[in-house]
Amino acid sequence: MATALACLSLAADLPTSAAPTDPHFDGSDALAKLHFIYATMNAGKSTLLLQAAYNYQERGMRVATLISALDNRVGRGWIGSRIGLKAEADAFGPEDDLFAAIKADHEKSPLSCVFVDEAQFLTSEQVWQLSRVVDLLDLPVMAYGLRTDFRGELFPGSRGLLAIADELTEARSICHCGRKATMVVRLGADGKALKDGAQVMIGGNETYMSLCRRHWQAAFAAEECGVAAE
Ligand SMILES: [Zn+2]
Repeated sequence: MATALACLSLAADLPTSAAPTDPHFDGSDALAKLHFIYATMNAGKSTLLLQAAYNYQERGMRVATLISALDNRVGRGWIGSRIGLKAEADAFGPEDDLFAAIKADHEKSPLSCVFVDEAQFLTSEQVWQLSRVVDLLDLPVMAYGLRTDFRGELFPGSRGLLAIADELTEARSICHCGRKATMVVRLGADGKALKDGAQVMIGGNETYMSLCRRHWQAAFAAEECGVAAE
Protein backbone atom coordinates (compact mmCIF):
# COMPACT_ATOMS: atom_id res chain seq x y z
CA MET A 1 0.00 0.00 0.00
CA ALA A 2 2.62 2.47 1.10
CA THR A 3 4.77 1.52 -1.86
CA ALA A 4 2.08 2.47 -4.35
CA LEU A 5 1.67 5.86 -2.76
CA ALA A 6 5.41 6.41 -2.67
CA CYS A 7 5.65 5.40 -6.30
CA LEU A 8 3.08 8.00 -7.25
CA SER A 9 4.58 10.81 -5.27
CA LEU A 10 8.15 10.17 -6.43
CA ALA A 11 7.65 10.47 -10.15
CA ALA A 12 7.80 14.13 -11.08
CA ASP A 13 5.19 14.07 -13.82
CA LEU A 14 2.67 11.84 -12.14
CA PRO A 15 -0.45 13.16 -10.48
CA THR A 16 -0.30 13.35 -6.73
CA SER A 17 -2.38 10.93 -4.74
CA ALA A 18 -5.85 12.00 -3.80
CA ALA A 19 -6.29 12.75 -0.13
CA PRO A 20 -8.97 10.77 1.72
CA THR A 21 -10.85 14.05 2.18
CA ASP A 22 -11.13 14.43 -1.59
CA PRO A 23 -14.77 13.74 -2.54
CA HIS A 24 -13.50 11.79 -5.58
CA PHE A 25 -11.25 9.57 -3.48
CA ASP A 26 -12.34 5.99 -3.92
CA GLY A 27 -9.39 4.25 -2.31
CA SER A 28 -7.93 3.18 -5.64
CA ASP A 29 -4.93 5.47 -5.27
CA ALA A 30 -3.76 3.33 -2.36
CA LEU A 31 -3.48 0.29 -4.62
CA ALA A 32 -0.55 -0.76 -6.75
CA LYS A 33 -1.06 0.31 -10.35
CA LEU A 34 0.29 -0.30 -13.81
CA HIS A 35 1.61 3.03 -15.08
CA PHE A 36 2.54 3.88 -18.65
CA ILE A 37 4.63 7.02 -18.99
CA TYR A 38 4.82 7.67 -22.71
CA ALA A 39 6.30 10.24 -25.02
CA THR A 40 8.13 10.72 -28.26
CA MET A 41 11.91 10.43 -28.36
CA ASN A 42 14.19 12.68 -26.30
CA ALA A 43 11.48 13.65 -23.82
CA GLY A 44 13.57 12.53 -20.88
CA LYS A 45 11.71 9.31 -20.09
CA SER A 46 14.85 7.51 -18.90
CA THR A 47 15.76 10.49 -16.72
CA LEU A 48 12.34 10.33 -15.07
CA LEU A 49 12.74 6.60 -14.56
CA LEU A 50 16.19 6.87 -13.01
CA GLN A 51 15.09 9.70 -10.72
CA ALA A 52 12.06 7.77 -9.50
CA ALA A 53 14.09 4.58 -8.99
CA TYR A 54 16.76 6.51 -7.11
CA ASN A 55 14.17 7.97 -4.75
CA TYR A 56 13.16 4.46 -3.75
CA GLN A 57 16.71 3.28 -3.28
CA GLU A 58 17.55 6.36 -1.23
CA ARG A 59 14.87 5.23 1.22
CA GLY A 60 16.36 1.77 1.43
CA MET A 61 13.69 0.23 -0.76
CA ARG A 62 14.56 -2.33 -3.40
CA VAL A 63 13.40 -1.90 -6.99
CA ALA A 64 13.66 -3.98 -10.13
CA THR A 65 14.93 -2.10 -13.18
CA LEU A 66 14.32 -3.80 -16.50
CA ILE A 67 15.06 -2.76 -20.03
CA SER A 68 13.42 -4.30 -23.03
CA ALA A 69 16.12 -5.43 -25.43
CA LEU A 70 15.84 -4.55 -29.11
CA ASP A 71 16.61 -8.13 -29.98
CA ASN A 72 17.07 -11.43 -28.17
CA ARG A 73 20.16 -10.41 -26.27
CA VAL A 74 19.50 -10.70 -22.56
CA GLY A 75 21.64 -10.15 -19.51
CA ARG A 76 22.91 -6.90 -18.09
CA GLY A 77 21.85 -3.77 -19.86
CA TRP A 78 22.08 -0.08 -19.21
CA ILE A 79 19.41 2.54 -18.83
CA GLY A 80 21.05 5.73 -20.02
CA SER A 81 19.65 9.24 -20.15
CA ARG A 82 20.64 12.17 -22.31
CA ILE A 83 21.76 14.21 -19.32
CA GLY A 84 24.35 11.62 -18.37
CA LEU A 85 22.60 9.55 -15.71
CA LYS A 86 22.81 5.83 -16.16
CA ALA A 87 22.13 2.68 -14.20
CA GLU A 88 22.45 -1.02 -14.76
CA ALA A 89 19.29 -2.90 -15.59
CA ASP A 90 18.21 -6.41 -16.48
CA ALA A 91 17.76 -6.71 -20.23
CA PHE A 92 15.05 -9.08 -21.36
CA GLY A 93 13.91 -10.42 -24.70
CA PRO A 94 10.45 -11.05 -26.16
CA GLU A 95 10.41 -14.68 -24.97
CA ASP A 96 10.97 -13.89 -21.29
CA ASP A 97 8.17 -14.34 -18.78
CA LEU A 98 8.33 -11.13 -16.78
CA PHE A 99 5.78 -12.21 -14.19
CA ALA A 100 7.79 -15.36 -13.37
CA ALA A 101 11.07 -13.43 -13.27
CA ILE A 102 9.77 -10.62 -11.06
CA LYS A 103 7.91 -13.03 -8.77
CA ALA A 104 11.11 -15.06 -8.23
CA ASP A 105 13.10 -11.88 -7.56
CA HIS A 106 10.43 -10.57 -5.16
CA GLU A 107 10.38 -13.85 -3.22
CA LYS A 108 14.14 -13.80 -2.88
CA SER A 109 14.11 -10.27 -1.46
CA PRO A 110 11.01 -8.05 -1.37
CA LEU A 111 10.69 -5.39 -4.06
CA SER A 112 8.89 -2.05 -3.69
CA CYS A 113 8.45 -1.11 -7.33
CA VAL A 114 9.23 -2.36 -10.83
CA PHE A 115 10.61 -0.02 -13.52
CA VAL A 116 10.62 -0.90 -17.21
CA ASP A 117 12.44 1.16 -19.83
CA GLU A 118 11.90 0.90 -23.62
CA ALA A 119 8.45 -0.49 -22.81
CA GLN A 120 7.33 -0.02 -26.42
CA PHE A 121 9.24 -3.23 -27.21
CA LEU A 122 7.22 -5.35 -24.78
CA THR A 123 5.07 -8.00 -26.40
CA SER A 124 1.35 -7.80 -25.68
CA GLU A 125 1.71 -10.96 -23.56
CA GLN A 126 4.44 -9.26 -21.51
CA VAL A 127 2.14 -6.30 -20.87
CA TRP A 128 -0.34 -8.78 -19.38
CA GLN A 129 2.48 -10.33 -17.36
CA LEU A 130 3.20 -6.89 -15.89
CA SER A 131 -0.48 -6.44 -15.10
CA ARG A 132 -0.30 -9.65 -13.06
CA VAL A 133 2.71 -8.26 -11.19
CA VAL A 134 0.41 -5.40 -10.13
CA ASP A 135 -2.69 -7.48 -9.45
CA LEU A 136 -1.20 -10.62 -7.89
CA LEU A 137 2.02 -9.37 -6.28
CA ASP A 138 0.61 -5.94 -5.35
CA LEU A 139 3.67 -4.20 -6.78
CA PRO A 140 3.46 -0.92 -8.72
CA VAL A 141 4.91 -1.13 -12.23
CA MET A 142 6.20 1.98 -13.97
CA ALA A 143 6.65 1.39 -17.71
CA TYR A 144 8.32 4.11 -19.80
CA GLY A 145 8.27 4.09 -23.57
CA LEU A 146 7.51 5.60 -26.93
CA ARG A 147 3.93 5.88 -28.07
CA THR A 148 4.41 5.63 -31.84
CA ASP A 149 7.12 4.74 -34.33
CA PHE A 150 8.44 6.91 -37.19
CA ARG A 151 5.40 6.01 -39.32
CA GLY A 152 2.98 7.19 -36.64
CA GLU A 153 2.02 3.59 -35.77
CA LEU A 154 1.76 2.22 -32.25
CA PHE A 155 4.44 -0.15 -31.03
CA PRO A 156 3.12 -3.51 -29.69
CA GLY A 157 4.07 -2.66 -26.10
CA SER A 158 2.54 0.80 -26.36
CA ARG A 159 -0.68 -0.60 -27.79
CA GLY A 160 -0.97 -3.05 -24.90
CA LEU A 161 -0.13 -0.48 -22.25
CA LEU A 162 -2.47 2.16 -23.66
CA ALA A 163 -5.18 -0.49 -23.58
CA ILE A 164 -4.80 -1.82 -20.03
CA ALA A 165 -2.59 0.46 -17.91
CA ASP A 166 -4.27 1.98 -14.85
CA GLU A 167 -2.56 5.33 -15.27
CA LEU A 168 -1.35 7.05 -18.44
CA THR A 169 1.05 9.97 -18.18
CA GLU A 170 2.57 11.92 -21.02
CA ALA A 171 6.17 13.10 -20.68
CA ARG A 172 6.37 16.21 -22.84
CA SER A 173 8.93 17.34 -25.33
CA ILE A 174 8.92 20.25 -27.74
CA CYS A 175 9.14 20.55 -31.52
CA HIS A 176 11.52 23.15 -33.01
CA CYS A 177 8.43 25.37 -33.51
CA GLY A 178 7.55 25.31 -29.82
CA ARG A 179 4.49 23.07 -30.12
CA LYS A 180 4.32 19.83 -28.20
CA ALA A 181 6.21 17.08 -30.02
CA THR A 182 4.14 13.92 -30.30
CA MET A 183 5.70 12.34 -33.40
CA VAL A 184 9.12 11.11 -34.45
CA VAL A 185 10.71 11.07 -37.89
CA ARG A 186 13.46 8.70 -38.94
CA LEU A 187 16.07 10.54 -40.95
CA GLY A 188 18.31 8.78 -43.43
CA ALA A 189 22.00 9.49 -43.96
CA ASP A 190 20.98 12.34 -46.31
CA GLY A 191 18.92 13.98 -43.56
CA LYS A 192 15.61 13.29 -45.32
CA ALA A 193 12.59 11.73 -43.64
CA LEU A 194 12.15 8.02 -44.31
CA LYS A 195 8.64 6.72 -44.93
CA ASP A 196 9.26 3.00 -45.00
CA GLY A 197 11.38 0.43 -43.26
CA ALA A 198 11.30 -1.88 -40.28
CA GLN A 199 9.69 -0.58 -37.10
CA VAL A 200 12.88 -1.38 -35.22
CA MET A 201 16.29 -1.04 -36.83
CA ILE A 202 19.28 -2.42 -35.02
CA GLY A 203 22.64 -0.94 -35.71
CA GLY A 204 21.42 1.37 -38.46
CA ASN A 205 22.88 4.78 -39.20
CA GLU A 206 19.59 6.59 -39.17
CA THR A 207 18.74 9.28 -36.65
CA TYR A 208 15.48 10.45 -35.16
CA MET A 209 13.89 13.80 -34.54
CA SER A 210 10.84 14.61 -32.44
CA LEU A 211 8.30 16.90 -34.10
CA CYS A 212 4.77 18.16 -33.66
CA ARG A 213 2.23 16.45 -35.89
CA ARG A 214 2.12 19.43 -38.27
CA HIS A 215 5.87 19.37 -38.91
CA TRP A 216 5.93 15.58 -39.01
CA GLN A 217 3.38 15.64 -41.83
CA ALA A 218 5.31 18.41 -43.55
CA ALA A 219 8.50 16.32 -43.38
CA PHE A 220 6.72 13.41 -45.06
CA ALA A 221 5.06 15.60 -47.67
CA ALA A 222 8.40 17.23 -48.49
CA GLU A 223 9.90 13.81 -48.99
CA GLU A 224 7.10 12.86 -51.38
CA CYS A 225 7.56 16.06 -53.43
CA GLY A 226 11.33 15.73 -53.38
CA VAL A 227 11.68 18.98 -51.43
CA ALA A 228 13.98 19.06 -48.43
CA ALA A 229 12.12 18.87 -45.14
CA GLU A 230 12.02 21.96 -43.01
ZN1 LIG B 1 6.43 21.86 -35.06
